[in-house]
Amino acid sequence: MRAKTILLNLLFTAFILTSCSAVTPDGLEFTGGQRIISPGRTAELIIVPHYPEDSSGTDSQRATKTSAPSFSGEPQLSSDNPDIKILSVKTETISPAISCTIVVSASESMLSGESARITISWGGFSSESLIKIKKQPSLYIDESGVITDAEATDALINKNRELPSDYIPSDLVRVKVPTILIFEEVNHLRKPASAALSSMFRAAEEEEGFILTARSGYRSYSTQVMLFDANVSTHGMEYAAKFSAKPGTSEHQSGLAMDITAEIMNYQLEQSFGKTPEGRWTAQNAHRFGFIIRYPEGSEEITGYAYEPWHLRYIGEKLAAEIYHGGLTLEEYYSGQNLRSHT
Ligand SMILES: [Zn+2]
Repeated sequence: MRAKTILLNLLFTAFILTSCSAVTPDGLEFTGGQRIISPGRTAELIIVPHYPEDSSGTDSQRATKTSAPSFSGEPQLSSDNPDIKILSVKTETISPAISCTIVVSASESMLSGESARITISWGGFSSESLIKIKKQPSLYIDESGVITDAEATDALINKNRELPSDYIPSDLVRVKVPTILIFEEVNHLRKPASAALSSMFRAAEEEEGFILTARSGYRSYSTQVMLFDANVSTHGMEYAAKFSAKPGTSEHQSGLAMDITAEIMNYQLEQSFGKTPEGRWTAQNAHRFGFIIRYPEGSEEITGYAYEPWHLRYIGEKLAAEIYHGGLTLEEYYSGQNLRSHT
């Protein structure tokens, strides 16, 4: 009974293959093209018909497969993010193949970690492609190593990428969480970072009963000059360069970084914070609120800084989640490779 069914199926399939002049596509696919683009840039995506898997058998079958399928109507395209626009759509038949090339552009204001879904409907089929935004940091720096995107929450600031010495964030606010230092300047953050810190501290208390404390946030260029010089005169240049930042290279000047601590640490900033329940919770949950542990353990060669489990950098929820789940540092995210796997 079963053998008979198989035989009938085989005969039926053979009948279909010989009676059709060309194998018809069963969908559309995006081939080649870029899926990661920098803000303000364009990308080209190519869409071609997709053929059923079993049609690529004999040479003659492959030949018939490449006969141009007649797609009815013009391709219809849409983007689910108004910041990524479809600039042009072009269909082309280079006998016997047919393809559609679209050019998309990302607005200048987009931030790394944002994305858009591009949907195409064509010839009765539809398909989609995800465009992800990732800055090319090399486009945001001048010849003297000073960054040109200081206001952007996804800015890459490190020892090779300084903030302008006259940069003062325009939206600094006094944080609304427990603080410890009387020097008021450090109790400030940029508005979105401050709101995120409040949410994070609230969650730590509600979920685990942890009371976190903000110790050091915004630091002006002149404050950093003072701190660095003091560190140099006490510990020498080598120590100072390793444990504090040269003026301009500190993320604290961006108003997007906050050093946090807790009573269990006697409100100090020490690496043992990473082993405390509060420190562990922070490492596992900060990304939910748009923060990353900027200088993780074992990444000194990459970030240029020793492990700082207390130093949180606000970069927005989408980017923070991507970096956290990828097990990356900000440097690795932008370079597109996990540098630690090679060391
Ligand atoms: Zn810090």
